[in-house]
Amino acid sequence: MAISKPLSDRSNDTCELCTSHPANSAYTVSPRSGDNPDDQVALCDTCLRAIEKQQTGEYWRFLEGSIWNPEPAVQALSYRLLQLNKGEEWAAGILSSVEPDDNILQWALSAFDVAEVHRDAFGNELQAGDNVVLTQALDVKGTSFSAPKGTIVKKIRLVADNVGQIEGKINEQTIVILTKFVKKG
Ligand SMILES: [Zn+2]
Repeated sequence: MAISKPLSDRSNDTCELCTSHPANSAYTVSPRSGDNPDDQVALCDTCLRAIEKQQTGEYWRFLEGSIWNPEPAVQALSYRLLQLNKGEEWAAGILSSVEPDDNILQWALSAFDVAEVHRDAFGNELQAGDNVVLTQALDVKGTSFSAPKGTIVKKIRLVADNVGQIEGKINEQTIVILTKFVKKG
């Protein structure tokens, strides 16, 4: 997005990563969104493209300088890009010589979190309150009842510590159901 006045003043309209090209874009460092300059880094076209393409390699050697920028957003983005390059000796060297604040570190590394979400047999994300359909017959433990394939289970709950399991009511009984045997309704 366009560079706001405060970001323009802070960066002197120069890319805050490579510091050698004019900055043309304000890049908001995820998972932050919006246009608060504290969450943004002023970037030149080349750096922006390289980030979008997740380019790695020698190009990023200037991160050695930007990692020391006093702005948390610039530090977080620099650290994140160094992590992407950590297979390279020069990047590993820089990473071992810096110690960002915990909150900057978390911000930087949040890009690598794999979101653990409940998904049905077809990969659709499941949420609490969804209705699902059984994709195969299910014996309800402790009863002689077997729920046939196609049974609708309404208003499921997600088992918090296991993305492979949900809870739902079948025949008035709350049971645990494996997500791989359901389809989002
Ligand atoms: Zn640049």
